[in-house]
Amino acid sequence: AETETLLEVSNIEVIYNHVILVLKGVSLKVPKGGITALLGGNGAGKTTTLKAISNLLHSERGAVTKGSIHYRGERVQELSPEALVKRGVIQVMEGRHCFEHLTIEENLMTGAYTRSASKGAVSADLEMVYTYFPRLRERRKSQAGYTSGGEQQMCAIGRALMSRPETILLDEPSMGLAPQLVEEIFGIVRDLNAREGVSFLLAEQNTNVALRFAHHGYILESGRVVMEGPAQDLRENPDVKEFYLGVS
Ligand code: ATP
Repeated sequence: AETETLLEVSNIEVIYNHVILVLKGVSLKVPKGGITALLGGNGAGKTTTLKAISNLLHSERGAVTKGSIHYRGERVQELSPEALVKRGVIQVMEGRHCFEHLTIEENLMTGAYTRSASKGAVSADLEMVYTYFPRLRERRKSQAGYTSGGEQQMCAIGRALMSRPETILLDEPSMGLAPQLVEEIFGIVRDLNAREGVSFLLAEQNTNVALRFAHHGYILESGRVVMEGPAQDLRENPDVKEFYLGVS
């Protein structure tokens, strides 16, 4: 049977400040149960694509001016980020936004706010998050602002998990983290995908790591998809090797 497509972005254009054309017709699909990587260098348009999907461009004076975005067949362009969360899609923003003055556990609890879940269900979800992120359990009483960059990234993903998402849009999880931590976080993403069935669209500059953990990849350059394919094929592609993996 063919894999179900959850998210479908078709030929979107994004313009900032009415004049700066940043996405020039981007199309991509996120299948159910997959890890899809959105790759490309600094300024290629990865964050813009994620924000277009979660409808977070307004505050940046950006707008989708062409194309369409569907989730499970429903046009979602006019939905608020909160309404999208209710449909199962949540974004973890670049720079791991945790509330610095709250503890790790309080941060995680804020992720459950969109749900009208019972106390029991929420504590079961907290337990689920701690199972995947044992470091968060250890640090649960610590003020988030005093935890490490890696722990804050974990906290941001954990908080997103508390909304019981079907799809997580993960922006640059490797940013600023030591290689060993990057491996740890990607390993957890893989486990969440395999065991909880969470689908991921992850934006990454770190092509090497992303293509080892993702199933499928799209490469953006100056607001256009210039290459796409199964992660394995991209890893073996001579151009990808030369320009993105630093080997030739
Ligand atoms: P990065 O890894 O730096 O986040 P990216 O691939 O995610 O890169 P975007 O952040 O989407 O790229 O930026 C794409 C282009 O849009 C860049 O040229 C950037 O300067 C421009 N841009 C981003 N935000 C705005 C904004 N609010 N107003 C104007 N231009 C913007």
